[in-house]
Order: sequence, then structure tokens, then C-alpha cells
Amino acid sequence: MTESDLLLAYERIKEPFFTKRRFKHADLVKLLDKCSFQKEEIGQSFEGRAIYKIKLGAGKTQVLLWSQMHGNEATATMAIFDILNFFAASSNSFVEDILTGLTLHFVPMLNPDGAERFTRRTAQQIDMNRDALALVCPESKLLKKLQEKLKPAFSFNLHDQNVRYSAGATKNQAAISFLATAYNEATDWNENRTKAMQVICEMNAVLQDIIPNKVGRFSDEFEPRAFGDNIQKWGSSLILIESGGYDSDHEKMYLRKLNFLIILKALESIKNDTYKTRTLADYNAIPTNQKYLFDLLIRNIKMDGEILDIGINKDEVNIDNATDFEFKSTVEDMGDLSTFWGIEEFDATGFVLSPLSEFSQLLTSYKVKKEDLGRLEFEKKANFALTKNGELCYLVLNGEFIAVPS
Ligand SMILES: [Zn+2]
Repeated sequence: MTESDLLLAYERIKEPFFTKRRFKHADLVKLLDKCSFQKEEIGQSFEGRAIYKIKLGAGKTQVLLWSQMHGNEATATMAIFDILNFFAASSNSFVEDILTGLTLHFVPMLNPDGAERFTRRTAQQIDMNRDALALVCPESKLLKKLQEKLKPAFSFNLHDQNVRYSAGATKNQAAISFLATAYNEATDWNENRTKAMQVICEMNAVLQDIIPNKVGRFSDEFEPRAFGDNIQKWGSSLILIESGGYDSDHEKMYLRKLNFLIILKALESIKNDTYKTRTLADYNAIPTNQKYLFDLLIRNIKMDGEILDIGINKDEVNIDNATDFEFKSTVEDMGDLSTFWGIEEFDATGFVLSPLSEFSQLLTSYKVKKEDLGRLEFEKKANFALTKNGELCYLVLNGEFIAVPS
């Protein structure tokens, strides 16, 4: 199936339950109840939540894919259910080829306790991706055991990354990033790692057609405690996929669709060995992830008589028992930020920055708290007013622009 065939199919089969990234283990269990493929409880999390593996296909090449090792990185978990729906609903040579050539093992939500709180770490407050050697977490032991038992030819380690990574030193957000993880300090290329790199090139080629220049590559520095690095070392071709940011797609529904597409195309390529034509030069052509972005960059604003730029980031804070979120803004940098970009930018040429306290009467209608009326400060919340020729034009409240009618 071509890319466009798969994207068309996606609209028919995508799992309708998912409309946002914050969902819990109980939701996953309900979806698995409907799933007709072979399911196995492979163990439990620290707090006793069941962790499942779904098996499809009967081919000789074993492929292991797991998601949400970090509890707040849920994009690929949604994509896994889309892929399961796709395999359940489709009967064509594309699907038959994959399922006769490969045996797929999916472990969605490896860290259900973290997912419950929508936090990175496990219930033991441990970053599971630094626990591949110590194996303090029961979830880590499960993954290690699975790796030893299945000896997968290929492993997919599915994560989400900070939305503020750019693809190279550009203004382009890295929507998806890849890494063929290193297996030693010297970051050598053995056969395993080379295969992982080649499959990544296949996925990158698919993405460059759809989101040109918005794909990044992680630094391949060896991390001796991480699962990716160790699984590569233990003999599986390990592919890291990180879903980043895509404009205002905060719930990452578009990135979920891209995950669906590239994982299926990767499986097709593994089955047909087509990845083998890709070279290290193709891989090195993917720009590395860089930190050149703010969520909001206000350029050329006049503050205390001088012109400067203000870089503001807006981080998600969980609310309503981690079923939803709100943004918390922080002034991340001030001064000459001409070497940076904003995911959102505002050219404030001609505007003057004033503290909200100058307009306190007006603010009763915008429900601003008293503590937010102070001067704009580095590392504090982004609250201020923009005036032009002495007239109030905008309020910026917690990093959000509000136009004030004149
Ligand atoms: Zn992660």
C-alpha cells in the first residue's frame, strides 16, 4: 500500500476513543477487551496494574514494539491501537505480507502508573529509561525478560520529546525524531545498529514527502543505563522514535497518524529487506535536534526605553486528576534573541511593554490575580501589557495574547 492508501485507510480505522493524550490504564484495558488478537498479561507495574503484550503474525522475524515507558509520552500508544485496528480491519497483500513475514509483539503503556499521573517516572519515582542495568522497577524487569525471551531482530522504542526541539538550527519544530541508538562509547556501527539506521532512513523518506524538514535526529552519545542503548548492545536493531511538536497540535493527533504511517512502512521495509539500500550518508542528512525555539517569541519590544526580545515557554501542568492540562508560562529569556525562533512569534515593533498594574481597573474583567500585576521578570510568569502611543492594545496573560478593544 502506498503512503496515501495508508493515510486514507487511517481515517476509516483510527481508534475513535482517543481524542486526547491523557488516558489511563482502565481505558487501555477496555480497548484491549475489544481487541481480537492474542493478548497476554506479561506482568504488573509497581502498583499492580497489568501490563499486556499483543501478538500478531506468524513470521520468523520477531519485532518488539513498546510505548509509554515514560508515562506522559502517550502518542505512540494511540498509534499502536490504530495499527491494531488496521490489521483487524484489512485483508490485502500488504497486511498478509507483513503478518506472514514477521511476528509483531506490541506492549502499549509499559509504565501504567506514570500514565495514571501523566508523569514521566514510574510510581517508584524512577526514570525507567535509566534502569536497564539496575532493574529496580518491575516494569524494567519485564522489558528485559521480554527482550531475552523473544530475541527480537528489531525493537521499536516509542517516546515523545519536548515540543521545542527544532530540526537542526532552523525554525522548524522537529515533529518526529529518530535515533539508531549507540551500543558503545565509540558509537560504532555494527550490523545491528546499521540495520536500525537503514530502517530509520526509510521512515524519514516517507516523512520528508509529508512534512519536509520537520524530522530530527537525536545525538548518538552512548547512555550506559538506557534501554535503547542496551537493547542495541544485546543484539536487537533498536529504533527510537520520538514524537515532538507540530504547530498547535497539542494533543498530537496528527503526530499519532504519522506514527501509524511510518511504523507500518518500516514493517513493510523490514519484511521486504528494502531498507538495505540506505546508507549512513542518508542518515547523517537528517538534521540533529537543536534547542532554538521558544513557544512564544516577542521581538523588538520597548521596555524601560530599550528595544529587546522576550522568549516565553508554556509548559503543560496536569489538572483534573491528570485527565487534562493547562499551560503555565515562564519568561525563559530576555535581551537579544535574534538567533532564536518562536513556534509562535509576535513582532512588537512600535509597542511598549508596561506592567499590568498600570491598568488594574481594567483587569477586573480579565480576572487577573493581584500577584500577577508586578513587573515582568526573568523566570516568572509572562504577564504584561502592550501599549502603542499610550493606548492599551494587548494584555499578555500567562503567555496568551488578548486584544483589548479600543
Ligand atoms: Zn521518553
